[in-house]
Amino acid sequence: MSRNRPFIASDNVGRPCHCLECQAAEVTDKPIVRVPPDDFHPKARWLHGEELKAYWLARDRAMTALRAATGKSMPPPGGGLE
Ligand SMILES: [Zn+2]
Repeated sequence: MSRNRPFIASDNVGRPCHCLECQAAEVTDKPIVRVPPDDFHPKARWLHGEELKAYWLARDRAMTALRAATGKSMPPPGGGLE
């Protein structure tokens, strides 16, 4: 069982969610994401709230690092945060 593997596939990305958890974490503008099973969760599941926030933060960092590594395009000054 592998864990912490990047999991980027379009059919595992949903629509922004407005449940209480997502509202509390202020991620209602971000699509929810389905992650594969891990040691703690035997089934694939959709992330909400703080977990979803952490996912997008990590993904933004990974994308920025990837762009920096490939040198194809530079992130905009300020990181493009909204
Ligand atoms: Zn939610």
